[in-house]
Amino acid sequence: MKMLAQTELHVHLPGCLTPADVFALGRDVYHLIDWDSFGYRQLFAQIHGYDPRPEQLFARLQQGDATAWDELVFLHTYREDDKPGFDHFLVKFRFFLHIWWQRWGTGEQVLAELLSRAVAGHQARGLRYVEYRCGASGTQEEQVAFHRQTAVFLHQLTTPTFQARYIISIPRQDPLTGLEVVLTLLAQYPELREIVVGVDFASIEEGQPPKKFRPVFARLAAYNRENPKRPLTIVYHVGESFYDKSLESAVRWCHEVALMGARRLGHAIVLGLDPAVAIARRPFAHEQEPVSERLDQIRYDLAHRQALRRYGVAVDEAALLAEAKRLRQREEDEVVERPFTPERLADIRQRQQYVLDELARLGTVIECCPTGNRLIAGIPNPQHHPIHRFLAHAVNLAICTDNPGNFVTTLADEVGWVLRYTRHTPHTLLTRLGDPRRFGLSYDKHMRL
Ligand SMILES: [Zn+2]
Repeated sequence: MKMLAQTELHVHLPGCLTPADVFALGRDVYHLIDWDSFGYRQLFAQIHGYDPRPEQLFARLQQGDATAWDELVFLHTYREDDKPGFDHFLVKFRFFLHIWWQRWGTGEQVLAELLSRAVAGHQARGLRYVEYRCGASGTQEEQVAFHRQTAVFLHQLTTPTFQARYIISIPRQDPLTGLEVVLTLLAQYPELREIVVGVDFASIEEGQPPKKFRPVFARLAAYNRENPKRPLTIVYHVGESFYDKSLESAVRWCHEVALMGARRLGHAIVLGLDPAVAIARRPFAHEQEPVSERLDQIRYDLAHRQALRRYGVAVDEAALLAEAKRLRQREEDEVVERPFTPERLADIRQRQQYVLDELARLGTVIECCPTGNRLIAGIPNPQHHPIHRFLAHAVNLAICTDNPGNFVTTLADEVGWVLRYTRHTPHTLLTRLGDPRRFGLSYDKHMRL
């Protein structure tokens, strides 16, 4: 049990902070921040129906208004009372990002303070190995400077009993440029290769099909051929929020990302959530998708038809080819609508089984974050959580927290949740999962444990 709560493989740096950290970092700069930027105030008002007025909130806190504290906690944390949906989470996550962007402009000391707070929280809870993820904004030079400083500080915070590693999150909108930032950083500061161990694709996945990222995987593979001693690994958020498409396509995305070479998949909820539960989450959920996705799905079904049939999935080649011919007459972003039937839901369960078997064959790891998955995906019944399917399968699985500060949780809490809602004992859970350190992108075999 202790071993499972010592290694954190999926955590976002800004998401580590508690409300007290947020207040401490924001109290001197809140009045300088443009709270309208990135549509924050507008999105908040859309979702919650009122203007959060962060400037007044901080001012009231400075004046000792205790009622303001609960409001600040509400702006930063995403909990049971919040509605499911990625945008509902994102508006909470972005509150601190505004403080962060403002303070980053004021110097390196700010970054040191943020990292010290995040790392101190993990050290106090007995963690031994943490891979922190973070993205950056600004010009290429600014991004390189930010990531360099983050990596240097994380290195400085490493002790004989605590290792910090850094995974750089690349924006999905322009992934090749994002990768160039990372490669430029490592070319300029090769000593950082020990700390910078991977790249990640995070935030909104909807509308960003894996095929768009093939050139990034290829570019990184070329880099790794030139740098075999310190390769960079890809981890990838997928199958977390997927209302833009059919369940078949969402399952396929997980498979495609694994085949492209991602080492670990963030969440992959769609592979473990029963399709009947998935479609009951919203009216008409997953019945529509763009023509482009349906065409990609048809291509996939034809390419994998033999394997899919072995799993009992019906693949009618002639019908699929005729459908593809019709679809090619239409615009790629037009909508295809396909209602669900019991047979189709049964097929999707078999597709999930096929892809889970494929992940096991490839050695791909699923990073499961129980609380975040439950809240964002809208799975109120603990028995419906995808982790049950993952635990029953042989797929590599790690329990992580994602954003412990926003979700008000810890890694020990997440492991505790799994023990509470499954039949596992600490002993059987450890036997099933094994030491998560073996899935780390780097670790020092000589480290004293
Ligand atoms: Zn994440």
